[in-house]
Amino acid sequence: MNIMVTNDDGIHAAGIRALAEAMSELGTVTVVAPDRERSAVGHSLTLHSPLRIFELHKGWYAVDGTPTDCVNMGIHNMLPITPDLIVSGINHGANLGDAITYSGTVAAAMEANLMGIPAIAFSLATIGPSEHFTDAAQIAVQVARTVISHGLPADTFLNVNIPNCPRNRMQSPEITRQGKRSFFGKIVDKTDPRGRKYFWFGSEEPRVTNEPGTDFHAIDRQHVSITPLHLDLTNHKSLSILSKWVF
Ligand code: MN
Repeated sequence: MNIMVTNDDGIHAAGIRALAEAMSELGTVTVVAPDRERSAVGHSLTLHSPLRIFELHKGWYAVDGTPTDCVNMGIHNMLPITPDLIVSGINHGANLGDAITYSGTVAAAMEANLMGIPAIAFSLATIGPSEHFTDAAQIAVQVARTVISHGLPADTFLNVNIPNCPRNRMQSPEITRQGKRSFFGKIVDKTDPRGRKYFWFGSEEPRVTNEPGTDFHAIDRQHVSITPLHLDLTNHKSLSILSKWVF
């Protein structure tokens, strides 16, 4: 079993260390991850500057690019064979609802899915300083094992969110759908020392629609949330409506 591990928090993050260590139970692990934090870069690909690889130690490679760059570099330049599985994370913070479109963690799994490689994104639902990454990594191995034994359905990758608590307080995994959140984050405006205005996105708590069956609902009740995703962004319900319009 060959497993590639990446993330968007950067190669020095606690979450990727826990994930890579735990995944080594299942096979040979190669880490290809951004050299610094790249959270919220989404699915961006570096086209206008070169990329460099730094080998930190055996099997651990840092790339000065995005998570999507890392998946491409790993597959096309670094790994001797195509891995059986690509895992991304464990992200420091949840990736729930429509906010996943910002996520570099989820985008890495998306990129792997585009290449036809089974992929899972893992995130720890924490905002505070207490982090149960080791417990979460054990859950990640359990999920990966199940995925390997069944094989993912066609065009499917997984977005897994893990509650931030000790393993014995965690509730069973639930298969969920992507929820909806509305972000009412303030943009703070202040003045810099040279008298110019600057703006910064604040971290106001998002208001969520906590419907049963959603990823939010599972995490709220300390369940592990497993959402199957695909890349078809077509709104299938709108196809028949729009096809009646005259453009
Ligand atoms: Mn992140």
